[in-house]
Amino acid sequence: MLKLYNTLTRTVEEFHPLNPPQVRMYVCGPTVYDFAHIGNFRTFLFSDLLRRYIKYSGYEIRHVMNITDVDDKIIQRSVEQGLSLRDFTDRYLEHFFKDFDDLGAERPEEVLRATDHIPEMVELIGRLAEKGHTYEANGSTYFRIATFPQYGRLSKVNLEGNVAGASERVDADEYTKEDARDFVLWKAAREGEPSWSTRLGDGRPGWHIECSAMSMKALGESFDLHLGGIDLVFPHHENEIAQSEGASGAPFVRYWVHAEFLMVNGEKMSKSKGNFYTYRDLIEKGYQPRAIRYLLLSAPHHKQLNFTLEGLQGAESTIARLNDFRRRLAELVPGAGGSSDEVTRLVKEAVGRFETAMDDDLNTAEALGAIHDFVRETNTLLAQGGMGEDDQQRLLHTVERFDQVFNIFGPVEQELLDSEIQTLIDERQEARKSRNFARSDEIRDLLAAKGIILEDTRDGVRWRRK
Ligand code: AMP
Ligand code: ZN
Repeated sequence: MLKLYNTLTRTVEEFHPLNPPQVRMYVCGPTVYDFAHIGNFRTFLFSDLLRRYIKYSGYEIRHVMNITDVDDKIIQRSVEQGLSLRDFTDRYLEHFFKDFDDLGAERPEEVLRATDHIPEMVELIGRLAEKGHTYEANGSTYFRIATFPQYGRLSKVNLEGNVAGASERVDADEYTKEDARDFVLWKAAREGEPSWSTRLGDGRPGWHIECSAMSMKALGESFDLHLGGIDLVFPHHENEIAQSEGASGAPFVRYWVHAEFLMVNGEKMSKSKGNFYTYRDLIEKGYQPRAIRYLLLSAPHHKQLNFTLEGLQGAESTIARLNDFRRRLAELVPGAGGSSDEVTRLVKEAVGRFETAMDDDLNTAEALGAIHDFVRETNTLLAQGGMGEDDQQRLLHTVERFDQVFNIFGPVEQELLDSEIQTLIDERQEARKSRNFARSDEIRDLLAAKGIILEDTRDGVRWRRK
């Protein structure tokens, strides 16, 4: 039985979908104005893991993700680059899905773009207006939070002194809890910015209304799961609840599940702090997509994860070991042995531990521990020799089951080409010349993780495969 920590109730709850075997899940997707960083991907890989484990547990999943393709940053950058909103966002959307696929994530059943759903947003704002939740000021439309007494239930925001009325409101999409005020649903058009002509006037939607309109359109007024990074709890998700429940009168989402941050030296990885790596930055440095995936999934989503390149190097060795293990098991020429009790016990214990860990609010650290113990014990059996075909197949099938959820064993790694090794060695020499020892050590360790040994000789650097 899967249990999840629900931000709404602040407790770990048993997961019971509203309409089994179907599970309806909405994930707040990327804002496509630049390359996503691996902090963003921590959240998306967590959604992928939950999606996969829900399927593993016998449910059918309907997973919807939105694309925020209009907001202040997008408008500013598209104008700077002389591109239409669509051309500009198309480019980053394509980059996003390239990285998403390379990281081994499964595509959601539906991906919805905000700018394709302006009529739905206008309609939803109309319903809110009919129920007295909105007001207009200077051509913009706002949600009056005093009309929704449950406001603050998700984020536990303290509204004291903030519900003062029309003079107190925020237009920005992102703000802090101290600014819990009436928020914008529809922003009046500004000179030189893209806008839509609607019955609310010329303008564009606020960020929050996007997700209420698209999630309810795709999944209905009440659905099972809503995911995002922990920074979305306030104001984004709080505002989504106000908008959706304000309009429908029905409970919006059963389980709110949030991923904790990927950190760097004690700070959130973020664009604005400049302390981020994109997926491509790491690939250019020679790391494998599967290693990045492994690392980002190695800590449970409810814990912060500190990113280091050493950690990533560790993940490189781990996935190399897992891939190697699977290949040896698959290529084994079976002996005469039949179905052994030993393998029955091993599989039962490993799968049992794996499921117990995953059911426990997706405790990935424990689940991976179970996988590693399974690999170690199977290696011992392989070393004894004489394994029969039935045992081999049962063990392989167990690997497949784990990989249905984690997707870390394969495809079997490509070995580095000689030319790629030489390029990295040359870069290391350059790094040493410019006294960038951090990078030169990093390259040495990276090559070591891939079984390439470097020897510094008088005639330069020689290398060999282990
Ligand atoms: P954005 O593209 O900025 O809308 O963000 C996409 C997703 O990434 C959101 O769910 C954010 O909460 C999440 N996110 C942003 N930074 C981090 C981080 N350092 N660690 C984990 N998730 C993050
Ligand atoms: Zn959202």
